[in-house]
Amino acid sequence: MASTSLITTLVVGLGLALVLGTLAHRLRVSPIVGYLVAGVLIGPFTPGFVADQELARQLAELGVILLMFGTGLHFSLDDLLSVKWIALPGALGQMAFVTALGFALAQMMGWPVGAGLVFGLALSVASTVVVLRGLQEKRLLQSERGLIAVGWLVVEDLAMILALILLPALAGILGGQEGRPGGAENGLFGFLAPHTVGGALALTLAKVVAFFALMLVVGRRLIPWILHYVAHTGSRELFRLAVLAIALGVALGAAELFGVSFALGAFFAGITLAESQLSQGAAQETLPLRDAFAVLFFVSVGMLFDPAILLRQPLLVGATFLIIVIGNTAAAAFIVSALRYPLPLAVALGISLSQIGEFSFILASLGVELKLLPEAGRDLILAGAILSIFLNPLLVVGLERLVPRPRPREADGAPDMAGAPEIPELPVTSLTNHAVLVGHGRVGSLVARTLEAAGQPYLVIEDSKAIIDDLRRRNVEVIAGNAAQPGMLDAANIASARWLISAIPNPFESGNLIEHAHVANPNLEIIARAHSDAEVEYLKKYGASFIIMGEQEIARGISEHILSQVEPVPKKLHDEPVEP
Ligand code: AMP
Repeated sequence: MASTSLITTLVVGLGLALVLGTLAHRLRVSPIVGYLVAGVLIGPFTPGFVADQELARQLAELGVILLMFGTGLHFSLDDLLSVKWIALPGALGQMAFVTALGFALAQMMGWPVGAGLVFGLALSVASTVVVLRGLQEKRLLQSERGLIAVGWLVVEDLAMILALILLPALAGILGGQEGRPGGAENGLFGFLAPHTVGGALALTLAKVVAFFALMLVVGRRLIPWILHYVAHTGSRELFRLAVLAIALGVALGAAELFGVSFALGAFFAGITLAESQLSQGAAQETLPLRDAFAVLFFVSVGMLFDPAILLRQPLLVGATFLIIVIGNTAAAAFIVSALRYPLPLAVALGISLSQIGEFSFILASLGVELKLLPEAGRDLILAGAILSIFLNPLLVVGLERLVPRPRPREADGAPDMAGAPEIPELPVTSLTNHAVLVGHGRVGSLVARTLEAAGQPYLVIEDSKAIIDDLRRRNVEVIAGNAAQPGMLDAANIASARWLISAIPNPFESGNLIEHAHVANPNLEIIARAHSDAEVEYLKKYGASFIIMGEQEIARGISEHILSQVEPVPKKLHDEPVEP
């Protein structure tokens, strides 16, 4: 069995996650819940098949790397710096507040000071994967809320790296066992191995700064150069390979040489690419792998969970869980609204950040190793993490209902999308007999121009923040978000519309949209975009009445151009009577 355990773990993990994820989706909860349950089922604490936990953990780490790389691709350094005045005080304030709560609970249990600190800190840092997956699922990654959340995660990440490195140096003072068990310091600068707190702090900062500098100066030129070079070979396979090798290579290098986390390393690899034209291509290449491995992250978390702890220590688990969920939400929401952001945005952000994950596990294990944290502390952290990840998607839906809805489309063009609840009750447009244009990219923007010129009333549904901002500046009516989400078509008053124009590239999203629109308004003329004969058939089946296949039109344009330059060839030349 041992020789095939990688394959078994992959197959069983992915297969069971697929089944339970689909079931969760049917039950209208986040698929994440299904993945976690799949993990619990193949974990060591439930009967039946037990997958290899260590392998699952490493596979999950791949998921974290690819996820952070993909996220980095969507952000530029400027974006990140633009949220520093909210992300810095927010993340640090939240961590301080929740650490204090955890510390207080630890004191009540009679644990020493060091245990309280580690315990509290572990409860204060959100799970990168859960936050990003949540935002990605709702297509909010590019929204204002997404941007703040990512900035926030980066600050937390840096703070945790600092904590992980300072902890061994501080362990003696805090009543644990000094120095990292096993001795060797890792990393390029390991030989300096300082044991004073000041030394450890300086060294950590130096390493992080050295990594950033290297990425900004060398990486920013070298990485796009490599990709350009490989792209010129014309081999898609080599390009994919290059993207993967860069993402994983930088992550590993960052961790091994500079003591920066895998996640942060991959994120910066992505950021250095964000300005290059190839970045979109690069992002696409990692998507399928990224999604598969992110699923394995949740499966591997599920495997750690021993459900029996719920019976053994229900009260402590409950208290830990409440600190994670309520403490984090309240602290983040308070700070964000104190910084004069709208309350719905503040609460939504707080809820997205109110769970713990990978960093907490690492911190807890280190705490136990250093004899700072009792084993019971690690079990509680684990149970709290699982419960909070498990319940987070449900809380997102539930708690946001309690919050007043953001005032939509304010006159000043305030970013209402960012604070909007996930399934918003959007205000319905006042337009009737209008065109609903879905997607304002290369195709949609040209159609919009035509509608404008023809004096036809229309509105746009779009989910890219940059495009939404631009349209609002130009006073075009726009509904922000994924058109395939419930409520969007109603808000576009599809029942009284004249046309639906689906100008988005994804056939499944388009089909979904068309199906709903067709049911809501059977008289609607539905115009759609397709890229293959199969897509044309598919969209027709769901009710599209006029479908343009992009590639055919491109060919037509090229053919017309050629024909305009050559003499028309007389037909059936040989049949023509020959002049005597
Ligand atoms: P293009 O392929 O250049 O015509 O761009 C398509 C546009 O549609 C992009 O601006 C996307 O942001 C947008 N888009 C794609 N899918 C959706 C969706 N499901 N809902 C709303 N907008 C979308």
